[in-house]
Amino acid sequence: MRVCGVCGISENQDLIFSISFSKRKILINIKEDNDNPVFNICTNKDCITKARSDDLIGKVMDQTLNPKVYLEVAKAINTSSEQSLMSLLGMAQKSGSLVSGTEGVLKKVRRNAIALILLDPEISKNSLDRIQSVSEQFNCPLHFWHGSRSIDDLLNKPNCKVIGIVNPEMAQTILKKLKNNDR
Ligand SMILES: [Zn+2]
Repeated sequence: MRVCGVCGISENQDLIFSISFSKRKILINIKEDNDNPVFNICTNKDCITKARSDDLIGKVMDQTLNPKVYLEVAKAINTSSEQSLMSLLGMAQKSGSLVSGTEGVLKKVRRNAIALILLDPEISKNSLDRIQSVSEQFNCPLHFWHGSRSIDDLLNKPNCKVIGIVNPEMAQTILKKLKNNDR
């Protein structure tokens, strides 16, 4: 089990990354590495900031690391956690656990069949107002998507600015990841 070397959390293994260096190359999420020491860190931005100011990874590697390395680690963690978010959305889509488009999502929220709503920041004001009011009424969490690829591009659904996740467990995992990425 991986434990964040900074804050000590271990509950959500998906949010903890293992970092190692091999010939000065940063390796992320290595399963086993017998040759190189490993430092585990979670996606919380405070943890990477603290690791950087105290050179915590350097201490484990028994060398002094250039602070720039920490920027690369932060970038790699972001990319990696965004990729896993994208694959979660892909899984939701394949398993029929994803509803897209304002009307479709609103209809399902009113039946309490949506566990999480994701919005593209470019959604129209009118759609946003309608979705916000229904999500409040039915107590359905709502979150903006700030990925490097837009929702419509990701799901190959042109002009899709709203999606709903049906499966509650999947929605929980996605929400946790999103909240961590925003920190
Ligand atoms: Zn941490």
